[in-house]
Amino acid sequence: MGYDCIVIGGGLSGLTCGIKLASEGVRVAVISSGMNALHFSSGSIDVFGYTQSGSKIRKPFDHIESLAGASPEHPYSRIGAKAVRDSMDFFREEVAKAGLVMNHERDENHVRATGMGVMKVTFLSQEGVYNQKLKEAVARREKIAVLNFYGYRDYYAALTVQQLKKYPALKDTEIVTGEISLPFYTGTQKNLHEFRSIDLARVFDTEKYLPRIAGEIVKKAQGARIVSLPAFIGIENFSRIHTRLEELTGSLIYEIPTLPPSILGLRLDNALRSRFAFYGGEYSAADKVIAGTVENGRLAHIRTENYEGTMHKAAFFVMSTGSFFSGGLRSTFNSLDEPIFGLKINAPQSRREWYSQKFFDKKSHPFLSYGVETDGELHPTLQDGNCIENLFCTGAILSDYDPVQEGSGGGVAVSTGYFAAMKIIERIRAGIR
Ligand SMILES: Cc1cc2nc3c(=O)[nH]c(=O)nc-3n(C[C@H](O)[C@H](O)[C@H](O)COP(=O)(O)OP(=O)(O)OC[C@H]3O[C@@H](n4cnc5c(N)ncnc54)[C@H](O)[C@@H]3O)c2cc1C
Repeated sequence: MGYDCIVIGGGLSGLTCGIKLASEGVRVAVISSGMNALHFSSGSIDVFGYTQSGSKIRKPFDHIESLAGASPEHPYSRIGAKAVRDSMDFFREEVAKAGLVMNHERDENHVRATGMGVMKVTFLSQEGVYNQKLKEAVARREKIAVLNFYGYRDYYAALTVQQLKKYPALKDTEIVTGEISLPFYTGTQKNLHEFRSIDLARVFDTEKYLPRIAGEIVKKAQGARIVSLPAFIGIENFSRIHTRLEELTGSLIYEIPTLPPSILGLRLDNALRSRFAFYGGEYSAADKVIAGTVENGRLAHIRTENYEGTMHKAAFFVMSTGSFFSGGLRSTFNSLDEPIFGLKINAPQSRREWYSQKFFDKKSHPFLSYGVETDGELHPTLQDGNCIENLFCTGAILSDYDPVQEGSGGGVAVSTGYFAAMKIIERIRAGIR
């Protein structure tokens, strides 16, 4: 089958792009080599959380509008606040169709707790992480129980409580902690300490033990109205399990992100893949794009590791291969490169400039904002300075933004993926290929 577009990389950005294209009838394939950053993330989508000086941003879209003058190369300045806003609406509606509800406060950010009990600014959060009932109960200073499961070593409820107590809004709230013992532990073949979030999420997905788990929660919650659990209460059936646990316990059940594998991230990944398949998109997993041929400023075809002799052709290509984390950018001891096409990277040569001396430097680490150079439409630049006009770069591979310092990683991935899709749809409709 011939494709109108091939997306290289099936993470948050590539999948958002693929869904938008496929939903508009564009014939699209995604080729992806492995796991993406969602499997390590909180599963919330940060749009713009913090200013350069570290202050919290309440209205991210207003902030994006004000960026254009000071940071014209920032991906948000290139695509504009409207595209970011539209992409968030599109994203939310699509994952909701896959059964995953993501809540937000109209145009404003909200805060969510991390596993360390730190409150982080974000824009979209899953139902178990942020919802209206929970927000109101916290404001009423209702008692909170922060619970863990016996044998789960990747989360320390006592540490969460210690940090939460420092948060001014929780100063007068009673917070207790406790540990739940799961019924299936008896007779298990696995060492208890080998349990990871994914093992426990699969147990929840069976729904077999829910009444017994709910009984344990009630016992350990000591009458608390709000009960927080590590976020593994189901991958496939989260919504049903969450509702059932709330009914059985009479509490508001709240989820705190865990160490990887992130179940909140996995839910998002599954929801995106299922929407892509629903619209007829083709997902090729575990294959790696290794090279491409550029002729007259256009990418003619690409080749992959599994089908090295085959030339994969399309009118348009999108490159969403991520940053250093996923192999979209590569670093050796003294060089940085983009491994497929050798695209131009916006970074200094000297290794000493790549990082700050202090690990937790307020100014962050310079390498976090390195990435491929693009023009205003996200076309990347080759070493000779020429753009590839039918290739768009999106997501974490882009330069000139710092996802960690700004709290903007998920937002840039979603919005640039959406923007590239819109540009391709425009061109196809105008008969430009
Ligand atoms: C640990 C961690 C935690 C984070 N937490 C948050 C958070 O809480 N909130 C938030 O908003 N953002 C968070 N972010 C940032 C955000 O998750 C990422 O910026 C975003 O997911 C990046 O999406 P992406 O699609 O651009 O890249 P990725 O998710 O990295 O996906 C790139 C994909 O491309 C594939 N690939 C790479 N090379 C090739 C190739 N040659 N051929 C084919 N496929 C290839 C990779 O296997 C991967 O599947 C976090 C990031 C990390 C790393």
